[in-house]
Amino acid sequence: MIDKGHKKTWKQGKEMLVASIDGCSWMYDGHVLQITIQKNDGSWVQRKADKAFRVCTVRDFDRLCKRPVKFNPCVRPGCKHTWIDKEGGYTNREGMCESCFTARMRANLDQELAQEQDDKKARDRRAYAKGMRFVAVIWIHASGDDYSVEMLQNVMISNDHILRVLRNRRSRVLNDWTVYSLSKEGNRRFVRDGRNMKGDK
Ligand SMILES: [Zn+2]
Repeated sequence: MIDKGHKKTWKQGKEMLVASIDGCSWMYDGHVLQITIQKNDGSWVQRKADKAFRVCTVRDFDRLCKRPVKFNPCVRPGCKHTWIDKEGGYTNREGMCESCFTARMRANLDQELAQEQDDKKARDRRAYAKGMRFVAVIWIHASGDDYSVEMLQNVMISNDHILRVLRNRRSRVLNDWTVYSLSKEGNRRFVRDGRNMKGDK
């Protein structure tokens, strides 16, 4: 038997490697010993023994670690990092090292968020062009998840109007809202919020 938490750390070249046992090894009856070998940045490869976990020993574990892993160069020009070859001939990182891959994911996300902001501005510009001058962002706290609704108007939005929306939607909280003025450029400027109003129904 081998302990579920068994680990081994060693150095290959200038990379530190850690091998640990994957949960599937003992979670499923009769599953083979499966390990993950990982380097510092999170790049990894999985290897499997050819016998069931329950009959494996530390020697079987060590045998899986014995063959050196292969470090592939990152495809990003100028990047000196490597990633551990998956030994199955594929990579889910498009040939990038972990840090380049993460950086690109973050960049994509930032771009999406910026795009969302632009969309919102464009909507506000269109609303302004149609004569709308104020928007109320009203948070509804009813059963289920909280959500917000936006109400556009060409004149100042009254508290009564906002309260009507809140009550129609059965919000338990009646003061979580903000009124903004709209501009031609699509910018919102704070006018007032419900903070100083009575909060409960
Ligand atoms: Zn890289």
